Amino acid sequence: MRKAFVAGNWKMNTDSHTGVALAKAVASGSSQVAGHSVTVAVCPPFVYLQSVAAAVSASHVAVGAQDLYFEPKGAFTGEISPSMLKDIGCTYVLCGHSERRHVIGETDELICKKVSAAISGGLLPILCVGELLEERDASQTEAVVSRQLKNGLAGLSVEKVSAATIAYEPVWAIGTGRTATRQQAQEVHDFVRKLLQQMYGDELAEEIRILYGGSVKPGNSAELMAEPDIDGLLVGGASLKADDFLAIIDSAA
Ligand code: PEP
Repeated sequence: MRKAFVAGNWKMNTDSHTGVALAKAVASGSSQVAGHSVTVAVCPPFVYLQSVAAAVSASHVAVGAQDLYFEPKGAFTGEISPSMLKDIGCTYVLCGHSERRHVIGETDELICKKVSAAISGGLLPILCVGELLEERDASQTEAVVSRQLKNGLAGLSVEKVSAATIAYEPVWAIGTGRTATRQQAQEVHDFVRKLLQQMYGDELAEEIRILYGGSVKPGNSAELMAEPDIDGLLVGGASLKADDFLAIIDSAA
């Protein structure tokens, strides 16, 4: 039985005060369900990770980073290592978010190194995959998602992959207000699970959590969560409003 998982990606938003206040509101508002019927995580900007981790330390809300670098230390100006993230209380880390793929220009190869380094460093990566609108229109969704998944996990053993969560985030649905329908999302989640089954076997495919992300709101979260292969939600914009994020958590619990 896969426990529901709701993660909030704050992107480049909040400040030192609003981030801590948001984290505290999420921790207190989700205290009945977080850690029990639903895994809850927030992913603030790097510079607020430590204060947010302190703000939620007495709760079951976990903290995730939005990115990391794959080297353990050294001359990599501006980068953050897995052990630094562990050191300040991070549990999760997003890898290959579409904004990093399409705005920053990260490749599948780089993303794979990050996933691998995250797992070796004791972090739980959330590998994001998803197609552009023109790729969906050209019926390439499965080809794109398959490539991102295979390349993003290349060379990793089934034991290592079991530390990962997958997030299907169609790029055309991120921050656009245009959510995939529950059927569109379920079709791709089913495809991803079957692909993971071929790659790593029944047990891994049965246990791994596949989140949906893309304009999730309190008004559509319950219907998405009702689909059999949607195990949770990766939430951007709506995770910045405590009431909305808490309503989404409740709908998943
Ligand atoms: C995201 O950032 O991963 C995301 C899904 O954003 P939004 O919910 O705003 O579409």
